[in-house]
Amino acid sequence: MNLCGCHAPKDEQQHFFAMDTVMTLRLIDASPEDFKACQEKVKELEQKFSVTLPESEISALNRAGSATLSADGAAVVEAGLTVSEQTEGAFCLSLYPAGRLWGFSGEEMRVPSAQELEAVRPLIGDEAITLSEKEITLPKGGAIDLGGIAKGYTADLLDLLLEERQVEHFFLSLGGNVQVGGGNPDGSPWRVGIADPDGGEAVGVLEIADGAVVTSGGYQRNFEQDGTLYHHILDPETLAPAKSGLKSATAVGLSGTLADALSTAFFVMGEERALDYCARYDAECILITEDDRVVVSPGLKEQFTLLNPQYRYEK
Ligand code: AMP
Ligand code: MG
Repeated sequence: MNLCGCHAPKDEQQHFFAMDTVMTLRLIDASPEDFKACQEKVKELEQKFSVTLPESEISALNRAGSATLSADGAAVVEAGLTVSEQTEGAFCLSLYPAGRLWGFSGEEMRVPSAQELEAVRPLIGDEAITLSEKEITLPKGGAIDLGGIAKGYTADLLDLLLEERQVEHFFLSLGGNVQVGGGNPDGSPWRVGIADPDGGEAVGVLEIADGAVVTSGGYQRNFEQDGTLYHHILDPETLAPAKSGLKSATAVGLSGTLADALSTAFFVMGEERALDYCARYDAECILITEDDRVVVSPGLKEQFTLLNPQYRYEK
């Protein structure tokens, strides 16, 4: 009991490392079992989706060229293929042979030669993947990577799990993926900070009670060679790090899976194409441009507040 005689909510956090990133679970009025169930769900999905674990179902698929996926595997691939189609290939599951050459999935990071990239080009393009229920077949020599969407799917399953376990208020941060539910226990929405791609204080804050806020940016994983910075989000057209004039792209929506795939796609598409997509498919985004403008899709303007004076935001 606190001074007003009401019950103060128990507000606890756990941090752990999974899916190659630091994850934070903040649960209100939850039990140790609730935290444990969440961590176990993340580990279970990592075992299925990781391309760096040889025993995962995705690694097995990439070796064999075809497989019967788990229900989770089939659901993620299906969602990825839909976003791939709707973004005209900006989101691309089958980029993995190129990603491997750049070394962003655990190999040594390096700049591959133009010949190396051209050699894998015929393997890239999601139209060549066939998925029927849980049966999937890749083009010969092709390989997929769920790195652009798996954390969003994981966040959706944690959201469901917490609902089942009657944990009403939560704030999850799985690397760049934030998933919130139930609003703040004081009745206000959650306040989600949008990271400064240059490492300063948050660019701004988005008020949201339920849903996903997912950010992709070249600042999240990169390496430098001969004075040039190379990052991990590849443009399927060039097979090189995307250069679309953005420092980061954030997608906001109810589905973590969709927001994750879209944040990656928006980063590749750049300002104009991302805004067109949002208008057409009723999606929402926050884009930070290389010239330090913050561009917010119409449906989010009331919820977003600029904090960092390095950036310009015209409401
Ligand atoms: P995210 O942090 O969600 O933007 O995902 C980045 C990760 O997705 C990379 O580390 C790759 O595993 C994968 N990836 C890179 N480029 C793309 C792309 N254009 N479409 C889909 N996945 C990609
Ligand atoms: Mg993503």
